[in-house]
Amino acid sequence: MPSTPALSSIDDVLTLIRPSVRDEHAYVVGAPSECEVKLNQNESPYDLPAELKQELAEAFTHIDANRYPNEQPNELRDALAERDGVDPEGIIVGNGSNELTYTFGTAFLDPGTPVVMPRPMFSLYEKVARICNADLTPVPPRDDLSFDADAIKRAVVDTGAVMTVLTTPNNPTGLAMTMDEIEQIVRAAEGIVVVDEAYVEFNPAGSAADLLETYPNVVILRTLSKGMGLAGVRLGYMIARPELAHEIMKSRLPFMVDRFSEKIALALIQHDDLLSERVAALKQATQSLIAALEEMPGVEVVPSEANFCIFRTERDADALQADLAASGVLVRNMGGYPELPGYLRVSAGTEAENKAFLTALERSLARVDTA
Ligand code: PMP
Repeated sequence: MPSTPALSSIDDVLTLIRPSVRDEHAYVVGAPSECEVKLNQNESPYDLPAELKQELAEAFTHIDANRYPNEQPNELRDALAERDGVDPEGIIVGNGSNELTYTFGTAFLDPGTPVVMPRPMFSLYEKVARICNADLTPVPPRDDLSFDADAIKRAVVDTGAVMTVLTTPNNPTGLAMTMDEIEQIVRAAEGIVVVDEAYVEFNPAGSAADLLETYPNVVILRTLSKGMGLAGVRLGYMIARPELAHEIMKSRLPFMVDRFSEKIALALIQHDDLLSERVAALKQATQSLIAALEEMPGVEVVPSEANFCIFRTERDADALQADLAASGVLVRNMGGYPELPGYLRVSAGTEAENKAFLTALERSLARVDTA
């Protein structure tokens, strides 16, 4: 007769999870998949060209699926280093840049470690800080939602922040910092400053990677999910001084980048012209969306240096989001950020998608006006 198990209730098992994890919500976007026009996740509307997919299908037949990949995808790392003009030894390629965000948590954050993050900011960063029980100092934006660079710098100095995160252009606002503002913060900081450049391809101010030469505490974070259109493949990378990258590697899970993802990125990187063309189209599409939204009565839109923008109307954001979804257009409600009540975020899509969005929005607002 087996004895009674020491733990028989699932509720008792759940109490074993660390409180800082139990207090969180899982990251779920919750998209109704039947929407035709998907503009809710800042993705690229452009898939890999069909011929490239064909080439990759052929390449797949030569992949040793039974063998572990290298610790780092060295060919891809070299190609990224060459493209960006940086030392390959300073690059760590991750399973999306999100994975590296977690790695920063394991590498830098003990309970109580001081961390500074401007608000509103891509929510994953705060989540990692909370899960690690770090001591997070959020810095509110100015009234126009732009970064308050002076306040960030003050918070970095006053708290002795071990890690500061700047996402520029920022998600969710689309607003960017100037290079001078970034440098001032980096220069004042006694900790590392992570500059998340997920949307760098769209930013006229360019990259802060040049700061690496002067400042050893800079870490640049990039993704292949946005301008390069590989959100479904999961690749991102960080650039730091090689000495720092070597230490950060110690806190990582092994084998995070599989053989096939590396091949896909390598093939796409060869198509520089296509990528530039697509980025240029999306930059223009974003500015056209902003211009069109500015023209609409009762719509308030925030300028953007990324591939999306946020806007609000007099209507409740949930109701408007549902209305647009009913017309087949998916946008994201930003109301979860206390600084962004009533705001929705729309990513730039193809010309047809942007038109569908603007038409659906106009119709929805007109319906309410005449109701
Ligand atoms: N950083 C920022 C600022 C983002 O907006 C996003 C995507 N929403 C990411 C990182 C995540 O990128 P990845 O797909 O490489 O994990």
